[in-house]
Parts: sequence; C-alpha cells; structure tokens
Amino acid sequence: MQPVALEDLDIRPAAPLLIVDVDEVLAHFMAGFERYAARHGVEMRIDRFALFQNMYRPGETEPIDFETGKKLFDDFFRHGADDLDPVDGAADALATLSQRAGVVILTNAPAHALESRTGWLSKHGFDYPMILHSGLKGPTIAGMAARTNGPAAFIDDLLPNLESSFESAPAVATFQIIADHRLRPLAPTVPERHALHEDWTTLGPALRLAIT
Ligand SMILES: [Mg+2]
Repeated sequence: MQPVALEDLDIRPAAPLLIVDVDEVLAHFMAGFERYAARHGVEMRIDRFALFQNMYRPGETEPIDFETGKKLFDDFFRHGADDLDPVDGAADALATLSQRAGVVILTNAPAHALESRTGWLSKHGFDYPMILHSGLKGPTIAGMAARTNGPAAFIDDLLPNLESSFESAPAVATFQIIADHRLRPLAPTVPERHALHEDWTTLGPALRLAIT
C-alpha cells in the first residue's frame, strides 16, 4: 500500500466515501505505545483522556514532562509503531463496506511515520489509500467529500476532529469509536452529533446504513 497525496487521491464521483482514522479506530495505539514506553522505563496510568499526562516514571506522582513524552512519541513512530494490535472486526467491516464505498485512511502522525504506518496497514488488511495528515481534519474531509455526490462518513476517536468535520462538512456523517476500553469512559463525546460506538460489531452496520 502506498501513501497518496491529497491531490492524487482517486475519489469516484458517484460512490459513497468512508474516511477512516487509524489510532483507536483501526489500531490499538494506546496499548502499543504503552508497551513501547514500558521498555523505556515509563508506565501508563490512564486516568484522563490524554497521552503524556498519563505517563509516569515508576514511583513518581508527577507525569513525565512534555519533551520526554514527545521524544518517546516520535521514537515510537520510528521503532515501535509496527507493534500495534488491530481493532477486532475493523478489517472485515471495511472490506465489506469497500465493495460499495471508497475508503480513505486519514491519519495524523509525524512525517517520519510514513513507512511504519503504511506497513502496518498493509499487514493487517487495510489496503486503502492513506493520507498522512496533521491538524484538525475538517477542511480536508470537506475537500474529499466535495469530490463525490455519494454519501460520506468519517470515523475518528477524537472529538475535536469530529467537531471540525461537522463544521467544515456538515453533510458528512460522523462516527466515534475509542477502541481502548480504559480511555473510552474518559473521552469527550457528543453522541447526539457524532454516533458513538463501542466496537465494530455495531459500527460496521451503522456505516453501511449511512452510506446506503
Ligand atoms: Mg485516532
């Protein structure tokens, strides 16, 4: 699977479109990053919806500072990001949905994550074009959705991206899934605006309805 530049993305003008995030949607990012951090002497204590603020040196009561967290995060995408477990049911659901809809992977990750990200997606059966992105996703989603008359849907774990999509492209249906069961109860949600799902067992059929 190859990464694609936004302007080269092939979107069928009459087909439904699914725009799908990776971390906590297709991949168990938190659990994988936790394993990586543990090998570097940092433990995860998940008691808020955050990343570095949940990370501690053993025995300490203050989380690691931002710079330490950022370095671990960047290094993870160099050396550890192949070691992510896929979220149950996601590959099968997308395979079925892709018979009818175009699927685009839209992931926020550092530029140096390109290889590990495409490698991981291919390995786990997510052979769809991938856009490596940074920042709020709404304007990019609006640009993609404008290229088809078909219905479009966007799936992410982070409320700011879902709100951004709603603001930039209100016709795009939004869905939220937070794969990590420890993060899920802590995550900001607006279920009346962004349909909230615990797993792909219900998310798959809901997406099918949304693009029918
Ligand atoms: Mg995510």
